[in-house]
Amino acid sequence: MSQPYYRPTFIQIDLQAIKTNIKHLKEILPESTKIMAVVKANAYGHGAIEVANAALQAGATQLAVATPEEALQLRDAGIIADILVLGASPISFLHIAAERNITLTAYSFEWLFATRHFTKPFKTHIKIDSGMGRIGIVQEEELQAALAFIKERDWIEITGVYTHFSTADEEDEHHLKKQIAVFERMLHLFEQRPAIVHTSNSAATLRISDQHWDAVRFGISMYGIAPSPWMEENLPFPLISALSLHTEVVHVKRVKKGATIGYGATYTATSDEWIATLPIGYADGFLRKLHNQFVLIKGKRMPIVGKICMDQCMIRLDEQVNIGEKVVLLGKQMNEEIRIEEWANALQTIPYEICCTFSNRLPRLYS
Ligand code: PLP
Repeated sequence: MSQPYYRPTFIQIDLQAIKTNIKHLKEILPESTKIMAVVKANAYGHGAIEVANAALQAGATQLAVATPEEALQLRDAGIIADILVLGASPISFLHIAAERNITLTAYSFEWLFATRHFTKPFKTHIKIDSGMGRIGIVQEEELQAALAFIKERDWIEITGVYTHFSTADEEDEHHLKKQIAVFERMLHLFEQRPAIVHTSNSAATLRISDQHWDAVRFGISMYGIAPSPWMEENLPFPLISALSLHTEVVHVKRVKKGATIGYGATYTATSDEWIATLPIGYADGFLRKLHNQFVLIKGKRMPIVGKICMDQCMIRLDEQVNIGEKVVLLGKQMNEEIRIEEWANALQTIPYEICCTFSNRLPRLYS
Protein backbone atom coordinates (compact mmCIF):
# COMPACT_ATOMS: atom_id res chain seq x y z
CA MET A 1 0.00 0.00 0.00
CA SER A 2 1.45 3.38 -0.91
CA GLN A 3 -0.55 5.18 1.79
CA PRO A 4 -1.74 3.77 5.09
CA TYR A 5 -5.19 2.20 5.07
CA TYR A 6 -6.74 1.28 8.36
CA ARG A 7 -9.99 -0.30 7.25
CA PRO A 8 -9.23 -3.90 6.23
CA THR A 9 -11.35 -3.69 3.07
CA PHE A 10 -9.61 -3.71 -0.29
CA ILE A 11 -9.54 -4.93 -3.87
CA GLN A 12 -6.66 -7.23 -4.75
CA ILE A 13 -5.47 -7.08 -8.34
CA ASP A 14 -3.40 -9.96 -9.62
CA LEU A 15 -1.27 -8.34 -12.33
CA GLN A 16 0.22 -11.72 -13.18
CA ALA A 17 -3.28 -12.88 -14.18
CA ILE A 18 -3.51 -9.94 -16.60
CA LYS A 19 -0.09 -10.79 -18.04
CA THR A 20 -1.03 -14.45 -18.42
CA ASN A 21 -4.28 -13.59 -20.22
CA ILE A 22 -2.26 -11.46 -22.67
CA LYS A 23 0.34 -14.19 -23.08
CA HIS A 24 -2.36 -16.74 -23.92
CA LEU A 25 -3.93 -14.30 -26.37
CA LYS A 26 -0.58 -13.77 -28.09
CA GLU A 27 -0.29 -17.51 -28.55
CA ILE A 28 -3.50 -17.66 -30.61
CA LEU A 29 -3.06 -14.43 -32.61
CA PRO A 30 -1.04 -14.14 -35.80
CA GLU A 31 2.40 -12.78 -34.93
CA SER A 32 1.77 -9.55 -36.83
CA THR A 33 -1.39 -8.70 -34.85
CA LYS A 34 -0.73 -6.11 -32.17
CA ILE A 35 -2.53 -5.95 -28.84
CA MET A 36 -4.07 -2.65 -27.77
CA ALA A 37 -4.82 -2.92 -24.05
CA VAL A 38 -8.10 -1.16 -23.24
CA VAL A 39 -7.54 0.61 -19.91
CA LYS A 40 -10.41 3.09 -19.95
CA ALA A 41 -12.48 3.77 -16.82
CA ASN A 42 -9.45 3.26 -14.59
CA ALA A 43 -8.76 -0.04 -16.36
CA TYR A 44 -12.33 -1.23 -15.70
CA GLY A 45 -11.78 -0.34 -12.05
CA HIS A 46 -8.52 -2.29 -11.80
CA GLY A 47 -6.16 0.74 -11.84
CA ALA A 48 -5.12 2.33 -15.14
CA ILE A 49 -1.42 2.93 -14.54
CA GLU A 50 -0.68 -0.43 -12.95
CA VAL A 51 -2.65 -2.37 -15.58
CA ALA A 52 -1.19 -0.37 -18.48
CA ASN A 53 2.35 -1.09 -17.29
CA ALA A 54 1.60 -4.79 -16.75
CA ALA A 55 -0.05 -5.10 -20.16
CA LEU A 56 2.88 -3.40 -21.90
CA GLN A 57 5.32 -5.68 -20.08
CA ALA A 58 3.29 -8.69 -21.23
CA GLY A 59 3.46 -7.71 -24.89
CA ALA A 60 0.66 -5.23 -25.54
CA THR A 61 2.12 -2.42 -27.64
CA GLN A 62 -0.60 0.23 -27.45
CA LEU A 63 -3.23 1.49 -25.06
CA ALA A 64 -6.80 2.68 -25.49
CA VAL A 65 -8.74 4.96 -23.16
CA ALA A 66 -12.10 6.72 -23.35
CA THR A 67 -11.24 10.32 -22.46
CA PRO A 68 -8.49 12.93 -22.77
CA GLU A 69 -8.09 12.91 -18.98
CA GLU A 70 -7.45 9.18 -18.97
CA ALA A 71 -4.79 9.57 -21.67
CA LEU A 72 -3.07 12.36 -19.72
CA GLN A 73 -3.08 10.29 -16.55
CA LEU A 74 -1.04 7.62 -18.37
CA ARG A 75 1.34 10.15 -19.95
CA ASP A 76 1.81 11.87 -16.58
CA ALA A 77 2.77 8.48 -15.15
CA GLY A 78 5.59 8.29 -17.70
CA ILE A 79 3.98 5.83 -20.10
CA ILE A 80 5.31 6.43 -23.62
CA ALA A 81 3.40 3.78 -25.59
CA ASP A 82 0.87 4.91 -28.21
CA ILE A 83 -2.43 5.90 -26.63
CA LEU A 84 -5.69 6.11 -28.56
CA VAL A 85 -8.65 8.04 -27.13
CA LEU A 86 -11.70 6.04 -28.22
CA GLY A 87 -14.32 8.62 -27.26
CA ALA A 88 -15.17 12.01 -28.69
CA SER A 89 -12.43 14.49 -27.73
CA PRO A 90 -13.13 18.22 -27.86
CA ILE A 91 -11.11 20.22 -30.37
CA SER A 92 -9.77 22.27 -27.44
CA PHE A 93 -7.72 19.19 -26.50
CA LEU A 94 -6.06 18.92 -29.93
CA HIS A 95 -2.94 20.95 -29.16
CA ILE A 96 -2.31 18.96 -25.97
CA ALA A 97 -2.90 15.69 -27.81
CA ALA A 98 -0.36 16.78 -30.44
CA GLU A 99 2.19 17.84 -27.81
CA ARG A 100 1.80 14.68 -25.74
CA ASN A 101 1.58 12.24 -28.66
CA ILE A 102 -1.98 11.17 -27.92
CA THR A 103 -4.00 9.82 -30.84
CA LEU A 104 -7.58 11.05 -31.12
CA THR A 105 -10.55 9.48 -32.81
CA ALA A 106 -11.87 11.31 -35.89
CA TYR A 107 -15.49 10.22 -35.67
CA SER A 108 -17.22 12.56 -38.15
CA PHE A 109 -16.47 14.98 -40.97
CA GLU A 110 -17.72 17.71 -38.67
CA TRP A 111 -15.07 16.87 -36.06
CA LEU A 112 -12.31 16.85 -38.67
CA PHE A 113 -13.55 20.12 -40.18
CA ALA A 114 -13.44 21.71 -36.73
CA THR A 115 -9.66 21.03 -36.66
CA ARG A 116 -9.14 23.26 -39.76
CA HIS A 117 -7.41 26.11 -37.87
CA PHE A 118 -4.91 23.75 -36.24
CA THR A 119 -1.96 23.29 -38.56
CA LYS A 120 0.51 21.38 -36.41
CA PRO A 121 0.98 17.62 -36.90
CA PHE A 122 -1.46 15.41 -35.02
CA LYS A 123 -2.44 11.77 -35.17
CA THR A 124 -5.90 10.33 -35.54
CA HIS A 125 -7.65 7.05 -36.16
CA ILE A 126 -10.78 7.34 -38.27
CA LYS A 127 -13.78 5.67 -36.66
CA ILE A 128 -16.28 3.98 -38.93
CA ASP A 129 -19.75 3.29 -37.55
CA SER A 130 -20.48 -0.04 -39.19
CA GLY A 131 -23.57 -0.79 -37.12
CA MET A 132 -22.99 0.15 -33.49
CA GLY A 133 -24.78 3.50 -33.89
CA ARG A 134 -22.65 5.36 -31.35
CA ILE A 135 -19.87 7.49 -32.85
CA GLY A 136 -18.26 7.11 -36.23
CA ILE A 137 -18.74 7.81 -39.90
CA VAL A 138 -21.71 5.97 -41.36
CA GLN A 139 -22.07 7.19 -44.94
CA GLU A 140 -19.56 6.59 -47.75
CA GLU A 141 -19.99 10.22 -48.88
CA GLU A 142 -19.02 11.47 -45.43
CA LEU A 143 -15.90 9.30 -45.43
CA GLN A 144 -15.01 10.54 -48.92
CA ALA A 145 -15.37 14.14 -47.76
CA ALA A 146 -13.23 13.40 -44.69
CA LEU A 147 -10.51 11.75 -46.77
CA ALA A 148 -10.51 14.67 -49.24
CA PHE A 149 -10.20 17.12 -46.33
CA ILE A 150 -7.25 15.17 -44.91
CA LYS A 151 -5.55 14.86 -48.30
CA GLU A 152 -5.17 18.65 -48.44
CA ARG A 153 -3.59 18.76 -44.97
CA ASP A 154 -0.39 16.78 -44.74
CA TRP A 155 -0.07 17.57 -41.02
CA ILE A 156 -3.01 15.28 -40.26
CA GLU A 157 -1.58 11.84 -39.82
CA ILE A 158 -4.12 9.05 -40.21
CA THR A 159 -2.36 6.28 -38.34
CA GLY A 160 -5.39 4.04 -38.05
CA VAL A 161 -8.96 3.23 -38.96
CA TYR A 162 -11.35 1.21 -36.86
CA THR A 163 -14.86 0.16 -36.04
CA HIS A 164 -16.60 -1.36 -33.03
CA PHE A 165 -18.86 -4.43 -33.00
CA SER A 166 -22.11 -4.42 -31.07
CA THR A 167 -22.96 -8.13 -30.99
CA ALA A 168 -19.63 -9.95 -31.13
CA ASP A 169 -20.39 -11.63 -27.78
CA GLU A 170 -23.60 -13.23 -29.08
CA GLU A 171 -23.90 -16.63 -30.73
CA ASP A 172 -25.80 -15.26 -33.73
CA GLU A 173 -23.20 -13.95 -36.17
CA HIS A 174 -25.61 -12.20 -38.48
CA HIS A 175 -25.08 -8.61 -37.33
CA LEU A 176 -21.36 -9.14 -36.75
CA LYS A 177 -20.90 -10.32 -40.34
CA LYS A 178 -22.92 -7.36 -41.58
CA GLN A 179 -20.66 -4.98 -39.65
CA ILE A 180 -17.52 -6.63 -41.05
CA ALA A 181 -18.88 -6.26 -44.61
CA VAL A 182 -19.76 -2.57 -44.08
CA PHE A 183 -16.30 -1.88 -42.64
CA GLU A 184 -14.55 -3.66 -45.51
CA ARG A 185 -16.56 -1.63 -48.03
CA MET A 186 -15.56 1.61 -46.28
CA LEU A 187 -11.91 0.52 -46.18
CA HIS A 188 -11.88 0.36 -49.98
CA LEU A 189 -12.40 4.13 -50.08
CA PHE A 190 -8.94 4.72 -48.61
CA GLU A 191 -6.32 5.38 -51.30
CA GLN A 192 -3.76 4.09 -48.88
CA ARG A 193 -4.64 1.74 -46.06
CA PRO A 194 -3.70 3.34 -42.69
CA ALA A 195 -1.01 1.52 -40.71
CA ILE A 196 -3.29 0.15 -38.03
CA VAL A 197 -6.68 -1.23 -39.02
CA HIS A 198 -8.53 -2.64 -36.01
CA THR A 199 -12.01 -3.93 -35.33
CA SER A 200 -12.03 -6.54 -32.58
CA ASN A 201 -13.00 -6.15 -28.94
CA SER A 202 -12.44 -9.10 -26.59
CA ALA A 203 -15.42 -11.05 -27.89
CA ALA A 204 -14.47 -10.72 -31.56
CA THR A 205 -10.82 -11.34 -30.71
CA LEU A 206 -11.60 -14.59 -28.94
CA ARG A 207 -14.19 -15.93 -31.38
CA ILE A 208 -12.56 -15.21 -34.75
CA SER A 209 -8.88 -15.82 -35.19
CA ASP A 210 -8.33 -14.68 -38.76
CA GLN A 211 -10.14 -11.33 -39.07
CA HIS A 212 -8.13 -9.06 -36.86
CA TRP A 213 -6.36 -6.84 -39.34
CA ASP A 214 -3.41 -5.20 -37.56
CA ALA A 215 -4.47 -4.95 -33.92
CA VAL A 216 -7.11 -6.06 -31.43
CA ARG A 217 -8.61 -3.96 -28.65
CA PHE A 218 -8.47 -6.28 -25.68
CA GLY A 219 -10.56 -5.10 -22.74
CA ILE A 220 -12.75 -7.19 -20.45
CA SER A 221 -10.99 -10.50 -21.12
CA MET A 222 -7.57 -9.03 -20.34
CA TYR A 223 -9.01 -8.75 -16.83
CA GLY A 224 -9.97 -12.43 -16.96
CA ILE A 225 -13.68 -11.99 -17.53
CA ALA A 226 -15.65 -13.51 -20.41
CA PRO A 227 -17.53 -10.90 -22.49
CA SER A 228 -20.85 -12.78 -22.08
CA PRO A 229 -22.23 -16.07 -20.73
CA TRP A 230 -22.26 -17.48 -24.27
CA MET A 231 -18.60 -16.53 -24.78
CA GLU A 232 -17.73 -18.18 -21.50
CA GLU A 233 -18.71 -21.52 -23.04
CA ASN A 234 -16.70 -20.77 -26.16
CA LEU A 235 -13.32 -19.49 -25.01
CA PRO A 236 -10.16 -20.56 -26.84
CA PHE A 237 -8.25 -20.58 -23.54
CA PRO A 238 -9.22 -20.27 -19.88
CA LEU A 239 -9.28 -16.70 -18.58
CA ILE A 240 -7.80 -15.92 -15.19
CA SER A 241 -9.67 -13.27 -13.25
CA ALA A 242 -7.49 -10.54 -11.83
CA LEU A 243 -9.81 -8.90 -9.32
CA SER A 244 -10.85 -10.11 -5.87
CA LEU A 245 -12.59 -8.24 -3.06
CA HIS A 246 -11.66 -8.70 0.59
CA THR A 247 -12.53 -7.56 4.07
CA GLU A 248 -12.42 -8.83 7.67
CA VAL A 249 -14.96 -9.39 10.40
CA VAL A 250 -14.93 -6.37 12.73
CA HIS A 251 -17.73 -7.34 15.13
CA VAL A 252 -19.37 -10.63 16.17
CA LYS A 253 -22.38 -11.12 18.41
CA ARG A 254 -24.84 -13.76 19.50
CA VAL A 255 -28.41 -12.54 18.92
CA LYS A 256 -31.57 -14.05 20.37
CA LYS A 257 -34.34 -15.55 18.26
CA GLY A 258 -36.57 -12.66 17.15
CA ALA A 259 -33.76 -10.04 17.07
CA THR A 260 -33.87 -7.77 14.03
CA ILE A 261 -30.91 -6.71 11.91
CA GLY A 262 -30.27 -3.56 9.86
CA TYR A 263 -32.26 -0.61 8.51
CA GLY A 264 -35.95 -1.27 8.23
CA ALA A 265 -35.56 -4.27 10.57
CA THR A 266 -36.10 -6.45 7.51
CA TYR A 267 -34.29 -9.50 8.89
CA THR A 268 -35.46 -11.35 12.00
CA ALA A 269 -33.35 -14.10 13.53
CA THR A 270 -35.31 -17.35 13.41
CA SER A 271 -33.28 -18.87 16.25
CA ASP A 272 -30.35 -17.75 18.42
CA GLU A 273 -27.75 -16.82 15.79
CA TRP A 274 -24.16 -15.63 15.33
CA ILE A 275 -24.13 -12.36 13.39
CA ALA A 276 -20.96 -10.65 12.12
CA THR A 277 -20.53 -7.10 10.86
CA LEU A 278 -18.29 -6.37 7.86
CA PRO A 279 -16.80 -2.94 7.09
CA ILE A 280 -18.01 -2.64 3.51
CA GLY A 281 -21.17 -1.16 2.07
CA TYR A 282 -22.83 0.36 -0.92
CA ALA A 283 -20.54 3.40 -0.89
CA ASP A 284 -17.77 0.95 -1.86
CA GLY A 285 -19.79 -0.57 -4.69
CA PHE A 286 -21.20 -3.42 -2.59
CA LEU A 287 -24.65 -2.49 -3.81
CA ARG A 288 -27.85 -2.85 -1.83
CA LYS A 289 -29.35 -5.16 -4.45
CA LEU A 290 -26.67 -7.71 -3.48
CA HIS A 291 -28.53 -8.34 -0.19
CA ASN A 292 -29.35 -11.92 -1.18
CA GLN A 293 -25.70 -12.74 -1.88
CA PHE A 294 -23.12 -14.61 0.16
CA VAL A 295 -19.58 -13.98 1.34
CA LEU A 296 -16.86 -16.54 2.01
CA ILE A 297 -15.56 -17.18 5.51
CA LYS A 298 -13.33 -20.18 6.26
CA GLY A 299 -14.07 -21.37 2.72
CA LYS A 300 -17.85 -21.48 3.33
CA ARG A 301 -20.69 -19.34 2.00
CA MET A 302 -22.36 -17.17 4.64
CA PRO A 303 -25.50 -15.18 3.78
CA ILE A 304 -25.88 -11.43 4.06
CA VAL A 305 -28.72 -10.55 6.40
CA GLY A 306 -30.69 -7.33 6.43
CA LYS A 307 -30.06 -4.38 4.18
CA ILE A 308 -26.55 -3.45 3.07
CA CYS A 309 -25.70 -0.09 4.69
CA MET A 310 -23.53 2.65 3.20
CA ASP A 311 -20.36 1.48 4.95
CA GLN A 312 -21.20 -1.80 6.66
CA CYS A 313 -23.22 -4.97 6.27
CA MET A 314 -24.14 -7.95 8.40
CA ILE A 315 -23.86 -11.67 7.75
CA ARG A 316 -25.12 -14.77 9.51
CA LEU A 317 -22.44 -17.20 10.67
CA ASP A 318 -22.76 -20.92 11.22
CA GLU A 319 -20.35 -20.70 14.17
CA GLN A 320 -18.56 -18.06 16.21
CA VAL A 321 -15.51 -16.60 14.45
CA ASN A 322 -12.78 -14.27 15.67
CA ILE A 323 -12.61 -10.56 15.03
CA GLY A 324 -10.23 -10.18 12.09
CA GLU A 325 -11.44 -13.37 10.36
CA LYS A 326 -10.73 -13.01 6.64
CA VAL A 327 -13.74 -12.52 4.36
CA VAL A 328 -13.80 -12.84 0.57
CA LEU A 329 -16.68 -11.12 -1.19
CA LEU A 330 -15.43 -11.82 -4.72
CA GLY A 331 -12.80 -14.39 -5.55
CA LYS A 332 -11.56 -17.68 -4.10
CA GLN A 333 -11.21 -18.87 -0.53
CA MET A 334 -10.10 -22.47 -0.05
CA ASN A 335 -12.27 -24.55 -2.39
CA GLU A 336 -15.07 -22.01 -2.77
CA GLU A 337 -15.34 -19.12 -5.18
CA ILE A 338 -17.73 -16.24 -5.70
CA ARG A 339 -17.45 -15.02 -9.28
CA ILE A 340 -18.32 -11.61 -10.61
CA GLU A 341 -20.81 -13.28 -12.97
CA GLU A 342 -22.81 -14.34 -9.89
CA TRP A 343 -23.12 -10.70 -8.84
CA ALA A 344 -23.96 -9.72 -12.40
CA ASN A 345 -26.87 -12.19 -12.34
CA ALA A 346 -28.07 -10.90 -8.98
CA LEU A 347 -27.89 -7.30 -10.20
CA GLN A 348 -29.23 -8.13 -13.67
CA THR A 349 -26.26 -6.45 -15.25
CA ILE A 350 -22.93 -7.34 -16.84
CA PRO A 351 -19.57 -7.83 -15.09
CA TYR A 352 -18.23 -4.73 -16.91
CA GLU A 353 -20.57 -2.51 -14.90
CA ILE A 354 -19.67 -4.12 -11.59
CA CYS A 355 -15.90 -3.59 -12.06
CA CYS A 356 -16.47 0.06 -12.91
CA THR A 357 -18.76 0.59 -9.93
CA PHE A 358 -16.20 -0.10 -7.21
CA SER A 359 -15.53 3.24 -5.59
CA ASN A 360 -12.23 4.99 -5.03
CA ARG A 361 -12.64 4.39 -1.32
CA LEU A 362 -11.51 0.81 -1.92
CA PRO A 363 -7.73 0.67 -2.12
CA ARG A 364 -6.40 -1.45 -4.96
CA LEU A 365 -3.51 -3.65 -3.88
CA TYR A 366 -1.31 -5.28 -6.50
CA SER A 367 0.45 -8.61 -6.60
N1 PLP B 1 -13.18 -0.77 -28.31
C1 PLP B 1 -14.10 0.12 -27.98
C2 PLP B 1 -14.40 1.24 -28.93
C3 PLP B 1 -14.79 0.03 -26.77
O1 PLP B 1 -15.71 0.94 -26.44
C4 PLP B 1 -14.48 -1.05 -25.90
C5 PLP B 1 -15.16 -1.24 -24.62
O2 PLP B 1 -16.28 -0.93 -24.39
C6 PLP B 1 -13.50 -1.96 -26.28
C7 PLP B 1 -12.87 -1.80 -27.49
C8 PLP B 1 -13.14 -3.12 -25.42
O3 PLP B 1 -14.21 -4.04 -25.35
P1 PLP B 1 -14.13 -5.32 -24.45
O4 PLP B 1 -13.99 -4.83 -23.06
O5 PLP B 1 -15.43 -6.00 -24.67
O6 PLP B 1 -12.95 -6.08 -24.89
